[in-house]
Amino acid sequence: MQNNIFSHDHFNTWQTCKSRYFFKYIKKLNWPDFTGDYELGKNFHALIDYYLRGFDIEPLIKNAGNELEECWNYIKDRQILSNKLIKTEWGFNCRVSDTHNWLIGRIDAVFYDAKTDKYIIADWKTGKYIPKNINSNFQHKIYLYAFFNSKQSLNLDFEPEQLEFRYIKIQDGVSIESIDFSREKEIEYTDNMLNLIEDINKAEKANKPETCPINQCAYKNLCFKQVRKNP
Ligand code: SF4
Repeated sequence: MQNNIFSHDHFNTWQTCKSRYFFKYIKKLNWPDFTGDYELGKNFHALIDYYLRGFDIEPLIKNAGNELEECWNYIKDRQILSNKLIKTEWGFNCRVSDTHNWLIGRIDAVFYDAKTDKYIIADWKTGKYIPKNINSNFQHKIYLYAFFNSKQSLNLDFEPEQLEFRYIKIQDGVSIESIDFSREKEIEYTDNMLNLIEDINKAEKANKPETCPINQCAYKNLCFKQVRKNP
């Protein structure tokens, strides 16, 4: 059966390795990934969400581990948090153009900066890296697209150029990668997504991978078996 609901991970996985996409999203062989900074990331997202909702986070900070407290100390006085909050942990579903395909996701926070008259989508990253190959990454693409195309239902009115996405890495200080939006980018992202959806829905089996792009891939054993079975 064809899929018509996509997250940025669907697109990123498909672009990175079609075999990985097959195991993860067609065969649905999923298991939790506790590698890297999973716990820190989860706790930091909860902490900043409580703060933005106006809860007293001091008791949480007192009981937090050093790493979480360090992350909070890096971000707590940054200008981004002084902007007007529009949404925190905003889950969305949004149609791709006028097709029957939908995008789903959860945006960490959206702010309005009155000085620049811009809406800012913030994505907190507690890992070591802001996504590599940022131009081909789909996270900011679908978040910008979905927020812009949901503006009516959110009672907002703004032009694409008034929207910006920021990857905000919080580790050893704060570093920010900003990506702007425009009418041209909206068209480009729509075309990108529809082309990928068409390719994805044509795929019925894992292609034999030529190279392996991920060192720690959970599907390695399955993948190698599949290669041996289909020489
Ligand atoms: S082991 Fe490598 S080639 Fe195979 S699915 Fe994983 S990433 Fe792809």
